[in-house]
Amino acid sequence: MQHPRELLASVFGYGAFRPGQEEIVEAVLAGRDTLAIMPTGGGKSLCFQLPALCREGVTVVISPLIALMRDQVRALREAGVEAGALTSGNTDAETEEVFAALDEGRLKLLYMAPERLAAPGSMGLLRRIGVRLIAVDEAHCVSQWGHDFRPDYLRIGELKRALQVPLAAFTATADEETRAEIVTRLFDGVEPATFLRGFDRPNIHLAFAVKDSPRRQILDFAQARKAQSGIVYCATRAKTEVLSQALREAGHLACHYHGGMDPEDRRSVEVRFQQEDGLIVVATIAFGMGIDKPDIRWVAHADLPKSIEGYYQEIGRAGRDGAPAETLTLYGPDDIRLRRSQIDEGQAPPDRKAADHARLNALLGLAEAMACRRQVLLGYFGETAEPCGNCDLCDRPAVLFDGTDAVRKALSAILRTGEWFGAGHLIDILTGNATAKVREKGHDALPTFAVGRDLSKPAWGAVFRQMMGRDLVRPDPDRFGALRMTEAARPILRGEEPITLRRDTVQAAGARPMVKT
Ligand code: ADP
Ligand code: ZN
Repeated sequence: MQHPRELLASVFGYGAFRPGQEEIVEAVLAGRDTLAIMPTGGGKSLCFQLPALCREGVTVVISPLIALMRDQVRALREAGVEAGALTSGNTDAETEEVFAALDEGRLKLLYMAPERLAAPGSMGLLRRIGVRLIAVDEAHCVSQWGHDFRPDYLRIGELKRALQVPLAAFTATADEETRAEIVTRLFDGVEPATFLRGFDRPNIHLAFAVKDSPRRQILDFAQARKAQSGIVYCATRAKTEVLSQALREAGHLACHYHGGMDPEDRRSVEVRFQQEDGLIVVATIAFGMGIDKPDIRWVAHADLPKSIEGYYQEIGRAGRDGAPAETLTLYGPDDIRLRRSQIDEGQAPPDRKAADHARLNALLGLAEAMACRRQVLLGYFGETAEPCGNCDLCDRPAVLFDGTDAVRKALSAILRTGEWFGAGHLIDILTGNATAKVREKGHDALPTFAVGRDLSKPAWGAVFRQMMGRDLVRPDPDRFGALRMTEAARPILRGEEPITLRRDTVQAAGARPMVKT
């Protein structure tokens, strides 16, 4: 069997599971009947596509919408997966191709419209081809009282009985009645493994801070939680070693963990962490899978994670026991530059790179959030929420100001210097700091020279960071990381759209961010 996590990366191009996906994939792979209730956009399709690829045989996917099936088949094929659909929208050639792939035993996923189950010969076909799993998308369509009722969904229970294979049902509709109906009609009344979990983990306190003296910030955070088990995630292996050393010198129990270590050494860290109280593991993201410690009290990120999915998964290791747990994520312009260049320099095709940039943007949006972070986080996963009262921005609301003027000045400094410079030089121009470089380039003669004297250097640093965080400017790897304007900035430059910035980080940029104790 192929390992799901490897396929997650190699076929789908994702670095982490979305909330809930891993447990569902495990249950399906274990051959259990499963019912998963996930919000729309939560990533249900992966939960049957991935198991389908890990195993021999065909997975039949019943889905009510032809357009949706075609989209999924196209995306799977682009990722190199043998998938096909039998729907009324097929051309004869398409249908023949599907049959050929089935005959040759190549097909992994067969999408079928429910109507097709009633067609003569369908049952016989499905019996012949070695079906291993039935996946039912939009399973609430089986409910006669719901507004999406599809009579042909009632044949699915029959199909399951005939094939004697596990069934995995997915829906975003969570109410009791619908669920009960699904269990009766799809699972013959036998309660399946059911996954119904909102994404919220209300006991986890969320906090971000701008990185200024990262080692100090992590030490302070750990100090306030002395003798509690915690994880510090770092972007590099070298850093895990340096930082765990620093923690030990400060009197903590700490060790490092990364993929470059001997398997026995890694194993011994895992065992210690599991058994001892108050151990800090400073690790790359290699640490975490298979760690099932309910009382991890805190998780800190010494560097910005790769994506909002990665962030959620990593902080989600804290507080599984439901007791209060705390998190802190440090970030700064260098992190943004690093993560962008990792995406740009990677081997992924252009559309996947664009998607990775979008996932990074989502995380930066969370980092630069103006109000409750949980609302932003859950919103990304398709859930709505009230302000949570358990994040740094609920504790201490951000002070906002109209940053339109500052952003326009910064953009014009970028454009007037041909998009060839980084934030440091641009800030020198804006604040009227006539350095040798500024004079040599003649930038002291620009109209933008010194137009930003009203803000301090650190304040401008924060403006630039927020501009990067909102993807108004991006470092260009082909120009040594020079900042270039994105399309999103154009309306602001033209004065068609205002932009709000956070004052607190502008002021705090030079000072040490406060850490909740
Ligand atoms: P649903 O069917 O639950 O509404 P989809 O399966 O269409 O949701 O997935 C929603 C989006 O989430 C898709 O754009 C998909 O690419 C993305 N997605 C799914 N799983 C992951 C993951 N593990 N990491 C990142 N993105 C994911
Ligand atoms: Zn909040």
